Amino acid sequence: MTQFTIPWDRTFDKNKKYIWISEIGENTCDECKSLDGKIFSGDNIPLRPHPNCKCQVEEQESKESENIKYINNQIHTVYKYLDKCSKIHSQINSTKNEQA
Ligand SMILES: [Zn+2]
Repeated sequence: MTQFTIPWDRTFDKNKKYIWISEIGENTCDECKSLDGKIFSGDNIPLRPHPNCKCQVEEQESKESENIKYINNQIHTVYKYLDKCSKIHSQINSTKNEQA
């Protein structure tokens, strides 16, 4: 098995996921081919198999972080309504107290 020894000339965010993209051509080695399309977390990306490797890794837009953004927005909306409700509620209460 080939040693994976060529370091990347860039850094990776260990909290993100990256997809390996090989440049598939006549000279593409088996290691590169087998890595094509594989997904790695930023702290687990293999070194490149050989010099002049044309492979790239691209950051993956994580669905989780999209979902978290969406949920946070929803929660924010709910809180705004709750705030309105409690204001209306205290208004009703003070009106009742005045009537009593
Ligand atoms: Zn390669």
